[in-house]
Amino acid sequence: MASEIKKIGVFTSGGDSPGMNAAIRSVVRTCAYLGIECVGIYRGYQGMMEGDFKTLDARSVNNIINKGGTILKSARCEEFRTKEGRKKAYDQLTKEGIDAFVVIGGNGSFTGALLFNEEYKFPVMGIPGTIDNDILGSSYTIGFDTAINTVVDAIDKIRDTASSHNRLFFVEVMGRDVGHIALNAGVGAGAEEILIPEQNLGLERLLDSLKRSKASGKSSSIVIVAEGDKIGKNVFELKEYVEEHLPIYDVRVSVLGHMQRGGNPTCFDRVLASRMGVKAVESILEGKSNLMVGIKDTKLVLTPLAEAIKAHTEIDEELIRVSDIMTT
Ligand code: ATP
Repeated sequence: MASEIKKIGVFTSGGDSPGMNAAIRSVVRTCAYLGIECVGIYRGYQGMMEGDFKTLDARSVNNIINKGGTILKSARCEEFRTKEGRKKAYDQLTKEGIDAFVVIGGNGSFTGALLFNEEYKFPVMGIPGTIDNDILGSSYTIGFDTAINTVVDAIDKIRDTASSHNRLFFVEVMGRDVGHIALNAGVGAGAEEILIPEQNLGLERLLDSLKRSKASGKSSSIVIVAEGDKIGKNVFELKEYVEEHLPIYDVRVSVLGHMQRGGNPTCFDRVLASRMGVKAVESILEGKSNLMVGIKDTKLVLTPLAEAIKAHTEIDEELIRVSDIMTT
């Protein structure tokens, strides 16, 4: 099958996530395998506008599959939101002879790619790279599995100290709009309560649950709080509230923060990224565009970018029920 596409650009954009390097490696090696030139675009859309490009061959991505972060760097770029900014990017891509690009990022990055395609008919393909797992069209995004394992590991350690001192810990995890990290890591780490943006459990239920927990003889309690939880109080205010209403508890707070974005990707994320990179390049060469590679029921699927960016994913109701039963 002859394709017009001879040179593909690849870049990472938005927040970084573990496994992005594995995806870059996969795109680069698939291009090499198929005899296509591959160009790394540094610092997302910012680097694209500035022509910050470097040709990548198969050997240039040695020893990165196991590394967190992104060798191409990531950036947020306001100027790309403007027509003038996108024109600059187009001029640079044309000058370099790049015929299509693969963007590894989240909803914002895909929105930019879609607009760019509308304006210049430039072939674009998306790979979902974000720890939040909040992209329609894929059951898993690259980085999510690593992030929940990082959180579970941290909570296991916090529980050691919590149970030695009979303490209650509020642990804040990432998730401004979605609670996938909180819910999955919470179930995995055996949290007593999980507060997520999709559900407002209310302060009364939290107090009841903590009272029951104490009465049942539990030696420690862990409550996971997603950043965007709707209970109306942040972790520090929750600590004060519980101390005031349940003085039996010695309460501590731990905010996990950016450690959740880092670390070596899990095997799951490395394999997922490798599969998605191959699919992205092959799809471009088949003449496809404006699509995102995703995974559903263990199979890779393509979803129009326009669909993928439409809304957030739904929280897993079955997992919420499991969590409720496990905290009995
Ligand atoms: P994350 O899930 O980590 O936030 P993201 O891809 O959603 O990743 P954003 O900061 O929303 O991250 O977007 C990354 C970049 O994509 C922006 O800095 C901007 O350059 C571009 N972008 C986002 N939205 C648009 C838009 N509406 N039009 C053009 N470009 C956009």
